[in-house]
Amino acid sequence: MSMSALGEPCVLLKLGEVVLKGKNRELFERSLQANIKAAVGDLGFRVDVRQRHGVIALLLPEGSGAERADAVAERVGYVPGLVWIHRAWRVAKDPAAVTKAAIELLADREDVRRGVSFAVRSRRRDKRFPLTSAQLDRSVGGELNDIYGLPVNLKNPDLVVSIEVDRDEVFVYTGGQPGQGGLPVGTSGRGLVLMSGGIDSPVAAYRMMRRGLRVDFLHFSGVPFTTSESIYKAYALARALDRFQSRSRLWVVPFGKAQQSIKAAGHDRLAVISQRRLMLKTAEEVARRLKAGALITGDSLGQVSSQTLQNITAQDDAVGLPILRPLIGLDKTEIIAEARRIGTLEISELPDEDCCTLLAPRRAETAAKIADLKQIERRLDAGELAVQLAGSLQEYRLRG
Ligand code: ATP
Ligand code: MG
Repeated sequence: MSMSALGEPCVLLKLGEVVLKGKNRELFERSLQANIKAAVGDLGFRVDVRQRHGVIALLLPEGSGAERADAVAERVGYVPGLVWIHRAWRVAKDPAAVTKAAIELLADREDVRRGVSFAVRSRRRDKRFPLTSAQLDRSVGGELNDIYGLPVNLKNPDLVVSIEVDRDEVFVYTGGQPGQGGLPVGTSGRGLVLMSGGIDSPVAAYRMMRRGLRVDFLHFSGVPFTTSESIYKAYALARALDRFQSRSRLWVVPFGKAQQSIKAAGHDRLAVISQRRLMLKTAEEVARRLKAGALITGDSLGQVSSQTLQNITAQDDAVGLPILRPLIGLDKTEIIAEARRIGTLEISELPDEDCCTLLAPRRAETAAKIADLKQIERRLDAGELAVQLAGSLQEYRLRG
């Protein structure tokens, strides 16, 4: 390994719940590694993913600058299953090299010039290293103190210099950025998100990806009776969400004609809930083809008339698959804050003509009776219609 004083820039990842998963741990680590590789796959340089004990080190090609580590850190910042991301320096397993790197790390820092308090925190994952953690703390801390004259504060330091001794190398860093937390995408199975162009459903998708579901996106457009705007929006949303899982797929069902039939069937007040049941039935058919084990919606209790307890019950009744509603207990303000944080809010706020604007009854039923809904469905032949709609599915690929 040829190295500068600082060593080689790399990115060090701390795993979340993955570590707790006992027997499944290997599966989890393998999924996480694959997800990380997919997330950095198109950066234009090789990223070597090395599993260490409880951490993952991302090594960059020799001669890489800090800006490559920044680019990698930015990408993995979206990957569920990681709780902490550090831009670290990788140095040889030698106390002198570690000290040198720590000194270099604090050079030219504004806070160091200000004289902030500091502490060195070492951890040994390889006990063969000549110094214990406590000895390393004291020796490196002493040197830093000599050179920069910073006060040591072990309890509550402004600046922590972290040192992690590993099998093949030592990592030295300060600070870091929090990761998404949660579980690696794919380790909980597959789900199908019913995604409108609204604020809620993208947040619901994010929540379930973070619990380990790989999701496909399904959008119902009003085509041929509306423009394709809502499809562009769904596409942009799916792209934004693709940063969390990679290789996403968007599926679009032209739903306009089916809505006309629902409208023609009368029962103005039941039209919205009727169409929601038809969406769910269609989604179930699509899920069967995609081998997805759950449907996901952005419902939040009481937010709109279709989301009363009775109407949610009527929706559950329409399908055999579980409907996951991760936003059920959240306030709109909380959902909006999360949409902003994950980068979907701006897209959701763009104007569009969603298929639902076609059916806007003067007064929507808040307590739909399942028997009434089933009667409408018999007239529509809803089961057959759902199969037909699923057959008209169009796929939009998001990358490459
Ligand atoms: P959102 O902000 O997600 O659009 P909303 O508050 O507008 O939700 P509704 O319009 O009642 O609420 O929709 C509830 C859920 O039904 C949505 O979160 C979404 O999962 C699903 N849904 C509604 N319209 C569509 C659509 N055109 N395509 C796919 N799913 C839809
Ligand atoms: Mg909506």
